[in-house]
Amino acid sequence: MGRQGATDIDLATVRAALDSLREPDGTRSLDPNEIADVVTEGNWAGVVIGRDEPSESLLPRAHAHLATAFPNIDFEIRAGRLVFRGGRGVGEGRHVVAVFGGKGGVGKSTLAVNLALTLSAMGVSVGIVDGDLSAPDLPHLLGIHQTEAPSGFGWQLLSRKVRPPSQRTQPQERFGIELMSVGFLVPERVAPVLAGRTLVSTVLRYLVFDVAWKADVLVMDAPPGTGDELQTMARELPLSGAIFVTTPQDLAQMDAERTLTLLRENNVPVIGWVQNMAELNCPHCQRQIDLFGSSSRLSDAGLPVLGRIPFDVKLSATADEGRPLVLGDPTGPIAYEFAKIGSAVRRWLADHEN
Ligand code: ADP
Repeated sequence: MGRQGATDIDLATVRAALDSLREPDGTRSLDPNEIADVVTEGNWAGVVIGRDEPSESLLPRAHAHLATAFPNIDFEIRAGRLVFRGGRGVGEGRHVVAVFGGKGGVGKSTLAVNLALTLSAMGVSVGIVDGDLSAPDLPHLLGIHQTEAPSGFGWQLLSRKVRPPSQRTQPQERFGIELMSVGFLVPERVAPVLAGRTLVSTVLRYLVFDVAWKADVLVMDAPPGTGDELQTMARELPLSGAIFVTTPQDLAQMDAERTLTLLRENNVPVIGWVQNMAELNCPHCQRQIDLFGSSSRLSDAGLPVLGRIPFDVKLSATADEGRPLVLGDPTGPIAYEFAKIGSAVRRWLADHEN
């Protein structure tokens, strides 16, 4: 018999296979008619379970069950707002790392971009997801300027259907990393007007699951605050780990602490935090000047410090030019600090593989 491909399976086969899936108490997990759709392409198969509020464990259990029955097929299981592809949710050995800031303007996008480029320089295949739906700045930071909305970008997520990989939106590429942003649908200077929990949830899940990412690690720039976007990210996206970036003032850390509580309530692991703009190295006297008071809230909450980025005008100047600092000055002190952060993140992901 030849190698089994996904085309060998169909709705009836998947229904039959899932008929033997059992709950821990021995009852049948799924009624065969709950399998709403099966789509196959090459050795990939997407299965949609027609249940709006699936239990968190249902998707991984159904995935393991099907993967055992059809070992040569990569399964993607969808149900309600959840998607599971194996591993930590986005696929074996694949991760979503989200960068949170609590407040706006603390350096979240700067960290996301420079961290992504640092990981890429370390040999990791990286994509950036611009999750800041009200201020999608990442294209600008990477020197991509969208003046017109592209036609044909439908961001609706199909609720009882699944798109095969070949029909997904292609991410843009820049400096060797992939990028997808709401900024590609909304021209610069136009407010994206993305309000409402359902719409926000749909767009964020679209950006992660209906884009044809090749990357193993998606770095996601999270929106500030603890609003709809964050609630969605924490509940509906399989985040491998979170990184906080914040300035040292107590007020900034207080807001980050609120986000931390939300993540912990939703069992999102936190990798650590980055102190940004803590000090300025005086160009005249070469002394270090502390710019703000120093709050220890995040360290007190048990988060390790991954790195300290000083205030440096080069960071904002290179960002405005669309050429991030770690590329322009790859051996400088800031790139060195990013290398420390990148190594810590990489080690953490390797330790949290499953
Ligand atoms: P956020 O994503 O949290 O809103 P940004 O990354 O957009 O924040 O940063 C806000 C502004 O501060 C940008 O102009 C950015 O270039 C600048 N900035 C961020 N970190 C530093 C730093 N360490 N030194 C100097 N400017 C910085």
